[in-house]
Amino acid sequence: MLSDALHEVLQRLENAARSAGRPRPHLLAVSKTQAATAVAELAAAGQRAFGENYVQEALAKQQNLNALALEWHLIGHLQSNKAAAAAAAFDWVQTLDRAKLVPLLAGGRDAGRPPLNVLIQVNIDDEASKHGCRPEDVPALAEAVASQSRLALRGLMAIPAPAPDLERRRTAFRNMKRLFDDVAARHPQADTLSMGMSDDYAIAVEEGATMVRVGTALFGRRITKAQS
Ligand SMILES: *Cc1c(COP(=O)(O)O)cnc(C)c1O
Repeated sequence: MLSDALHEVLQRLENAARSAGRPRPHLLAVSKTQAATAVAELAAAGQRAFGENYVQEALAKQQNLNALALEWHLIGHLQSNKAAAAAAAFDWVQTLDRAKLVPLLAGGRDAGRPPLNVLIQVNIDDEASKHGCRPEDVPALAEAVASQSRLALRGLMAIPAPAPDLERRRTAFRNMKRLFDDVAARHPQADTLSMGMSDDYAIAVEEGATMVRVGTALFGRRITKAQS
């Protein structure tokens, strides 16, 4: 039962937050490759926020689930030619990682809707990944996002290198928290630090995550590859 998995993850989040003396973070259910019926099942159990990696896949699911008023987050790499579509389809984009995307996202966001919530994706320690900005680029990108009325700067997101050594990831999370505190000091509306996945979310919470992105621990193993 997906509702059992949801309650177990929520309980673990609660425990990790309590033992770290922090508020319980928001749970983003990562539904990439999962059927709309699975999303509906989790929604029925009370989950509202869902993360998708591809614009097209999200649009297809949203059509099926229109009546549920869910909150959709883009967590996959964003191509420039999909930015306007992403700004229209999602409530949050967590993967803004270069200045070029700022006007494209702002231009794609309808003036009649609330501003698009934006997280800046930081490449905190993964030399193998081309995605995410460098830590030293964060202040300028944050300024650029904050200067757009159609965008709301909400904070930072990271996907640390998939090191088998969890302590290395703790270091990455700790460095992210420091970067985030700097951004939040300049931009009080930045209240979200998105980090931690199925195998490391407890550590991320201890280090200050306010949102964790969990797929496998909720839905089970992904069998098919996500479609773009
Ligand atoms: C797939 C994905 C997740 C969830 O990963 P799990 O290990 O299944 O919990 C989180 N964040 C991003 C960016 C992802 O692509």
